[in-house]
Amino acid sequence: MATKLQASKGTHDVLPDQAPERLALERIARRILEGAGYERIETPAFEVTELFSRGVGGSTDIVQKEMFTFEDEGGRSLTLRPEGTAPIVRSYLEHGMHKLPQPVKLWYWESFFRAEKPQAGRYRQFWQVGAEAIGAAGPAVDAELITLLHAILSEVGTGSLKLRLGSLGTPETRAAYRERLVAYLRTHEDRLSAEVVGRIDLNPLRAFDADDPGTREVMANAPLLLDELAPDDAEHFAAVRARLDAAGIDYVIDPTLVRGLDYYTRTLFEFETDALSSALGGGGRYDGLAEQLGGPATPGIGWAAGVERILLAAEPAPHRVAVCDLYVAGEGVTAFALASEGRRAGLSVQQELAGRSTKGALKQAARLKATAVAVVDDAAGTIHLKDTETGEQTVVPDTTAVIARALKGRHPG
Ligand code: AMP
Repeated sequence: MATKLQASKGTHDVLPDQAPERLALERIARRILEGAGYERIETPAFEVTELFSRGVGGSTDIVQKEMFTFEDEGGRSLTLRPEGTAPIVRSYLEHGMHKLPQPVKLWYWESFFRAEKPQAGRYRQFWQVGAEAIGAAGPAVDAELITLLHAILSEVGTGSLKLRLGSLGTPETRAAYRERLVAYLRTHEDRLSAEVVGRIDLNPLRAFDADDPGTREVMANAPLLLDELAPDDAEHFAAVRARLDAAGIDYVIDPTLVRGLDYYTRTLFEFETDALSSALGGGGRYDGLAEQLGGPATPGIGWAAGVERILLAAEPAPHRVAVCDLYVAGEGVTAFALASEGRRAGLSVQQELAGRSTKGALKQAARLKATAVAVVDDAAGTIHLKDTETGEQTVVPDTTAVIARALKGRHPG
């Protein structure tokens, strides 16, 4: 026997019993986001690698070790998208969306690929729901996006939510702060973990993420970027907070919040829940990204939340059997014509496909909670229609009459 093949490491199937919860989440996200004027966008599953090395940043874990990269027949380097913002900003620039009324508000529901070590809630292909507002710099956009993600997570019911909020300031503030932080880390090098020391010059902010006690002790007294924000950045941050306060959204200010992407400026946020140890989703402002991708300076902000993570944290939805208006017991030509005509008439019809006896077919129809069952005997040229609620069974002259009766007996909705 040939070896039984399995799904590739870190990937997973979405089985039919999981589909309803995903669909419910997609519907909630869609209603909330489209209600606020965000329009759906889809971008290709792979892009030229340079988009991510330039757009996500060469010092990030994603670019350094998590990308699925391959060459096409012309030797051009391509990468399966590890995140959604760089592709969307690429699309905004490529399609001249700056000519549209600003901000351009977009949302997506797509799968992403990262060569991560698989574990619970961490996969190599995973889905994200995300939203981006490109072309507006004011604090109301930041607060709006945070509020929308909060609304989605609250409606899905992902346990008790915690919103962590921070600000990175502008690249200039960050650069000056970075130097101070590097100098501070260098003076305490002997107490830091080897990994942190190895990354001091590449990405010193990540030291705030470290778990080892030595590094944590050093970081407890490290200078904080939030204390060094330029006046207009501090004002922007205060204005975002004032709007979240006005909307009644709780948050904690986290001066050590860093996210694994280089393009963030100013506002940064992440949602956590007591139901999971890892983050549900997060995002931030990326006012420099369009320029990094060769476009004009364009402000932007967005977030992404993991579909699998949200569903892990959510209450499981009851598995619902699809509505079946008519079950056609019979596999001959008349039965087939009846099923096709019924579907054309708008009925939800399922047909016997497994060669069950009439008795077996009736059992299957009961399992599906079919409203009516038509027993079609091609050889005898008869059709019996059974109303499963009343148990009443009648002989019906032809398929048209079956459909008329099934339409009449159909459950609303
Ligand atoms: P990030 O932009 O990397 O913070 O990703 C945003 C969200 O996507 C995270 O908060 C997770 O919910 C989800 N996510 C990121 N990476 C993975 C992964 N490897 N597997 C499953 N979900 C992920």
